[in-house]
Amino acid sequence: CPTVNVAVLGATGSIGTATIDVLHHLDRIDPTTTWNLWAASGHRNVALLSELAGQFTRPPTQIAVSDPASAATFAAGKSLAKTQLVTGPEALVEIASAPEVDVVVAAIVGRAGLESTLAAVESGKRVALANKETLVVAGSLVQSTLKKAESVAARSGPAPSTPTPSGPARSSPARSSPARSSPSDAPRSGAELLPVDSEHSAIFQCLGEQQAAVSGVPACKPRKLILTASGGPFRNASMQEMHDATPQRALQHPTWEMGKKISIDSATMMNKALEVIEARWLFDIPAESIEVVVHPQSIIHSMVEFEDGSVIAQLSPPDMRLPIQYALTYPRRLACETPTLDRSRPWDLTLQPVDRERFPALELGFEVARVGGTAGSVVNAANEEAVGLFLDGKIRFTDIVPACRRALENHHHETQPTLTRLLELDRWARAEVRKHYA
Ligand code: NDP
Ligand code: MG
Repeated sequence: CPTVNVAVLGATGSIGTATIDVLHHLDRIDPTTTWNLWAASGHRNVALLSELAGQFTRPPTQIAVSDPASAATFAAGKSLAKTQLVTGPEALVEIASAPEVDVVVAAIVGRAGLESTLAAVESGKRVALANKETLVVAGSLVQSTLKKAESVAARSGPAPSTPTPSGPARSSPARSSPARSSPSDAPRSGAELLPVDSEHSAIFQCLGEQQAAVSGVPACKPRKLILTASGGPFRNASMQEMHDATPQRALQHPTWEMGKKISIDSATMMNKALEVIEARWLFDIPAESIEVVVHPQSIIHSMVEFEDGSVIAQLSPPDMRLPIQYALTYPRRLACETPTLDRSRPWDLTLQPVDRERFPALELGFEVARVGGTAGSVVNAANEEAVGLFLDGKIRFTDIVPACRRALENHHHETQPTLTRLLELDRWARAEVRKHYA
């Protein structure tokens, strides 16, 4: 049975540990494929990394600890005696582009995930993308890399025929299948970027299987992509409550359990702003065709409105294991460990407009999605820096979005920046935020 070698970057995080759960689950229920954790990375939490890697009967080939200081403290148990330890940020790129790897789960938080995600795309992997910041910072570069990978694949002929155990034949020669009998027995075809973010997974599912993310032209153009937002812990809060919010309060998300950075992003609604930008690049659609509505129950994960006015939505309980698993097994749908929706009782699904005055982040997101270029890198970096300062008790909750706005307005916008320029501006924006609040 074919083996799929998976590299989980950011394995010690909320998405990373959920991915490890999904791999154990697939191992139990999928008789057609061997799901192999080929590599896993962590940054500082080396104890958890060692424990997660040690859970597999076939230990990973490589483990990466990206923080060099933490790498020195990594203790591999007996079960990892044959696993190679690679260290430093370069190790992430090495793993993401290793020829043995079929699927890269990009689950590092923030701009730190950029190089490895880009490397995975460049090397023609299936990328299960949680790290939305990569598309926010460098969406245009990722898009052109994907298109390049695709044209190379198209020139090298049809994709290998086997692999997807029960899925339909792949229509495009540019698409690779994650499952094949051995990683080296077929020419690598084009990269695939599949969303893990629940909203984007929902849209991907609503668009249907022929509608490829980024690397394909949709057969039927949607009129609107409608992202849902829970509204976060301050959905009904007053400006004063938000002004006085402590990190502890802002971290209390009503429907999702997530890492700290994305939890604060959800509270400011910067997460939705980042997701608007993510959708713009992932689905190659203008900002004007994207909408956001508040849906407090987090059951409708997003919707697509088509030309005829029909709106198709994807519903499931708020549990990231479903979109993670779908990105791994696509186009196959397999039984998932998530609970099903309880339809034995009455249930409410409410939709309401966003209060853009209390949540100014959203306008910023639409603006960045409209202008592209260097704007995403600047806003993302300012946000990461400001969220860090807020969590350290150095700035107020209500300082975060203005810090991003200020950085955006104080930078000289360029429409077609190189990666080097984007990274320069990332450093500049962080320094600007620190300087302003020092
Ligand atoms: P977590 O904070 O829980 O985990 C982050 C992971 O990244 C950890 O493995 C951490 O390692 C690693 N990491 C942190 N800093 C660095 C660095 N400088 N270099 C390399 N690795 C680093 O985050 P989440 O799992 O919540 O989020 C991950 C990504 O997924 C984010 O982009 C987020 O927006 C996105 N996402 C998350 C969702 C969720 O439900 N959590 C939903 C949708 C998207 P360590 O812990 O070992 O230090
Ligand atoms: Mg999301």
